[in-house]
Amino acid sequence: MNCPECGSPETKKCSLAYEEGTSYTRTEVPGGKEEHFSQTPLAAHCAPPEKPAGGAFKAAATAGIIAFFAWAGYKAVMAFKLSFHWTLWAMAGGFFITVGAVRILWYGLMGKSKKVRYDELSAAWERSWVCLKCGAIFAEEPHFGA
Ligand SMILES: [Zn+2]
Repeated sequence: MNCPECGSPETKKCSLAYEEGTSYTRTEVPGGKEEHFSQTPLAAHCAPPEKPAGGAFKAAATAGIIAFFAWAGYKAVMAFKLSFHWTLWAMAGGFFITVGAVRILWYGLMGKSKKVRYDELSAAWERSWVCLKCGAIFAEEPHFGA
């Protein structure tokens, strides 16, 4: 692949340049371990797209739903003198229905579009190259028939 900007043949896949220039090292020091993160300017230049956030939010939402049903179940037992078994089944059913509905809403409204966008960026990154001479980042030419 020659650079389309300057014509230099010294080019490299972005993913490769990123991996080569990024390193986590652990060194033993008195009293523990030290972690070092090092990255060359080239690797930072070729960094992949960031993953969309949402994991922490989803965990918090799930914890919130569990807490709500535990509380609602306790209240139901106290208020209506329901049998423990009946309440447990009702809580479990309500929990799964709510989690399912929240997941559908989450992915339907925003999670999906963010994920699709990320997948597109990742795919583009996988096909991108960097020029070691001028730093231009460009897309790999599609290989027809490959
Ligand atoms: Zn170039």
